[in-house]
Amino acid sequence: MDIYLAKTQGFCAGVSFAIEIVDEALRRFGAPLYVYHEIVHNTYVVNQFRDKGVIFVERIQDVPEGSRIIFSAHGVPPTVIEQAEARRLQFVDATCPLVTKVHNEATKFSNHHYETVLIGHRGHQELIGTAGYVDPQYLHIVEDEEDIDALNIDPQAPVAFITQTTLSVDDTEAMVEKLKQKFPNLNAPPRSDLCYATQNRQDSVKELAKDCDVIIICGSPNSSNSNRLRETGEKAGCPSYIIDTADELDLSVLNGKKKVGISSGASVPRIIVDDLVARIQQRHPDSRVHEFDNPEKNIVFALPKELREN
Ligand code: SF4
Repeated sequence: MDIYLAKTQGFCAGVSFAIEIVDEALRRFGAPLYVYHEIVHNTYVVNQFRDKGVIFVERIQDVPEGSRIIFSAHGVPPTVIEQAEARRLQFVDATCPLVTKVHNEATKFSNHHYETVLIGHRGHQELIGTAGYVDPQYLHIVEDEEDIDALNIDPQAPVAFITQTTLSVDDTEAMVEKLKQKFPNLNAPPRSDLCYATQNRQDSVKELAKDCDVIIICGSPNSSNSNRLRETGEKAGCPSYIIDTADELDLSVLNGKKKVGISSGASVPRIIVDDLVARIQQRHPDSRVHEFDNPEKNIVFALPKELREN
């Protein structure tokens, strides 16, 4: 059996940035340290931090006044920042800079009174954060093409769109095309809101799908970008499965397969992939692993200035 590891996979610069912020804050200030929402959507990463004394909360009122809190990589709406200020919390913002870019676009469109169509998954933390930067009277959240059909916006009004960063590249393109047909003067963000990590990981899975008989994606159930990777493999015609940990894989899905592709979402630590490879090799001792140089290795986001070394 041959095992092919996707060229681009695993931690993106935004996830590394957020994890480094929590690590550095723990080193400097110690536990307990509060984090608003899961710092990134990965069970292993969250459990590791819990063991080190990090307390994850979903409500600012659950954090004792004056404590230190970190906002997760997905970003928060302005109301959360206001609540944190009201409780005199010392906060560090671990929002990925590429999500902050979308927040800035949202603010700009909203300030110019554009009807703002936000493409994304309702209930996802990033969408909740971004939606908070749009005046509710101009906000229209759409998840699929049916939602676009149902949009009831004055045809004379200026319309713009923004998106969650981790959506399916192909589905988003189709939705933007549909929006353009409905609103010919549609304003787009200067550059796609889908981030480089989303694009690269989906492209790599499409490459795997050309050659492999089956694809296994490592990623937690609540990870948007990991779920999109599984769908990308499946849509490219290759049976694709998602697992949170190596022992979740039903090894029978490999029966009769000669080429297995493995990828992992942007929030998945390498150890999960290594465990999966080890588990497959236990069952198939002669399997060979093919790995490629990661073209993203030089993409790094600098720590916020309050956590940089003096
Ligand atoms: S997936 Fe993209 S937007 Fe999300 S943290 Fe990574 S680089 Fe940032």
